[in-house]
Parts: sequence; C-alpha cells; structure tokens
Amino acid sequence: MYRIARVGLHHYEEPCFSGERGSGTIFFSGCALRCKFCQNYEISRGGKGIDIGEDELIRCMEYLQDIGAHNINLVTPSNYAGSLVHTLKLAKNTVKVPIVWNSGGYETVASLKKLEGLVDVYLPDFKYADDGLAWEYSRAKNYFDVAYAAIKEMRRQQPVDVFDEDGMMTRGVIVRHLVLPNAVENTAEVLKSIADIDKDMYVSLMGQYFPTPEVMDDVALGRRLAQEEYDAATEAFFDAGLRNGFCQDLDSATEEYVPQFDLDEIRKILLK
Ligand code: SF4
Repeated sequence: MYRIARVGLHHYEEPCFSGERGSGTIFFSGCALRCKFCQNYEISRGGKGIDIGEDELIRCMEYLQDIGAHNINLVTPSNYAGSLVHTLKLAKNTVKVPIVWNSGGYETVASLKKLEGLVDVYLPDFKYADDGLAWEYSRAKNYFDVAYAAIKEMRRQQPVDVFDEDGMMTRGVIVRHLVLPNAVENTAEVLKSIADIDKDMYVSLMGQYFPTPEVMDDVALGRRLAQEEYDAATEAFFDAGLRNGFCQDLDSATEEYVPQFDLDEIRKILLK
C-alpha cells in the first residue's frame, strides 16, 4: 500500500529532468525527516494523500509516460523503499523512461542496495554537514554519516552520468543542496564532502529557500537567502574542487515552485 499526494508533470526541476515536456512526478506522503522549514509540509508531516495499491501505482507511472514525461520522478519515496523494490521490478515491463529516486538522502545503505538495477538516476538531498543543525532543523540523528554513506552508495551504483541527445539525464547522480540562511559554513562543509566522494558528481545548488509560516518568526530561518550568502555558496562550490553543477537565480525563490496537492487529480487519473 502506498500513500501518494500528487501525480503530474513538473516543470521546475533541473533542466535535465524537466526538459520540454516535464518530469513525471509522483509525490509520496510522509518523510523520514521532520524539516521545520519544509515547503511540502502538507504531505511530509500532515499526511495528506490517498492510499493506492501496487497496480495503481504502476498505472500512474504508465499514465505519466503516456502523456510525455521524460522520466518517472519518485519524490520522497524512501519510506516505501521495501515495497518499491517489487513494484519497480514489475513496472520495468511497461515503463521505459528513466526512474528517478528523488529523496531526502537520509536512508540506509542496506535499503539502497535493494534498489540496485531498478533506479536509473539518484537525486538525493545533502542538507547538513553539521549534526547539531540537522537535529535542530530536521530532528535527524547522526545525519551526516547516514547521508554521506547513502550518497556514496548511490554513486557506487551509478558511477557515470549519462545524458541523451536532448540533454536529459538517463543515468547518474545529482546531489541537491538547499542553501539555508545563516548557514553558509554548513554549505561549504557539505560541498567539500560531496567532492570527497567524487569531484565530478553533479551538484544542484538551490537558492530557492523561503520561510514557511512555521518558521516565519525564527531568528535564523525567518527570511529568504541573501545574495551574498548564495554567492558565498557558489564560491564554496569551486573551492571544494567540484566541476559539475546547476545554480539558480535567486529571483526564482518563489512559492510557485511548491506543487499543489490535488487528490481529485489522482482519482481522475486512476479512473482513466
Ligand atoms: S526532507 Fe524534504 S520533504 Fe522531507 S521534511 Fe525535509 S524538506 Fe520536507
């Protein structure tokens, strides 16, 4: 049984996922982390979603493929990793576009090993090098060691980044890092750790942070990122020796990025 909150084309991922037609996202409800600044809090903490079975999940993937999705983008799937091993094996019969594992990065190596051969592209977050910050902001214990080991395993499974003739990523790993306000040192340490795994690994340096109502009054998190902070993060990227990545225009920090979780849309898809 899966609980999902959105099935649809998404155009605001990195260009190598969204392309012209969009990335075929399926958002799962629930998350292993409890980020106080989470922009998808309705589903990560609020439990919004509908329950569906394995056949229905595969139908959602087929639907996205049929409407032109460049890939199937499984968003926050980690809580369902065990069941997805079986479902993805079945899905391979009909779903031919790349499978993207878009996770918080806080997952075990043992669980990732079971996905070997089933996931084409890993798209994890790497949020913190500072375990104190990880606990304060996300209630995650031992975050750094867990995320570092997880990303290392992802890279072991997908050591080469492959793009098709349209520039769409078909295999590989891209690590996302959301630059937080008042936390540039954390960013610099995260980037060094990524470089330590593989300097050629793609990094998506995200500057789109905006405070949700829950952290609007928080001293550290209650504002958007300053341009100087993002510039310092970009400099830290090069200082770390990283060679491949994506950066963002800070003006793109808008709530338009946040997807709408319309459960009726999913019901309509399943009735087709
Ligand atoms: S990992 Fe992402 S989805 Fe999960 S709580 Fe944190 S910000 Fe939200």
